[in-house]
Amino acid sequence: MSSRNNPNRIKSHRSYTVIEASELLGVNPKTVRNWIRAGLPIADEKRPLLIDGADLRIFLKQKRKTYLQQCETHEMYCFKCKQPQLPDADSLQFIAKPAGMVAMTGHCCECGCRANKYVSWRDLDNISQKLGRKLPKAEKHLNL
Ligand SMILES: [Zn+2]
Repeated sequence: MSSRNNPNRIKSHRSYTVIEASELLGVNPKTVRNWIRAGLPIADEKRPLLIDGADLRIFLKQKRKTYLQQCETHEMYCFKCKQPQLPDADSLQFIAKPAGMVAMTGHCCECGCRANKYVSWRDLDNISQKLGRKLPKAEKHLNL
């Protein structure tokens, strides 16, 4: 991940307008307004809206955490549906990566969009059980 959306770029001792915050984080101003609607505190109701740097930092860190915790092991976050989805079991592929990790790719069972995530080797049994099928043909990738 790049420095995009990186809470560490925010200075806690200053305030940001929506535009400043969006430029700093490389996101659309609409996204910042969505954050405010989603609970990001603002200094007061006057225009321009001012966001306290410290609040923004905390908000983004929490958001990142929720995002990471949102998916069950066998779910994948679909960027189109904007929520965790079950992958279509037939589309699943597992590719072994270093350090006991496996790159899991598959298609969202709702919209067919491609999704990726990294899982631990240890979770593979659990994942295949939850999805009610044996690990698919890409198993050959696993027998390195
Ligand atoms: Zn989807």
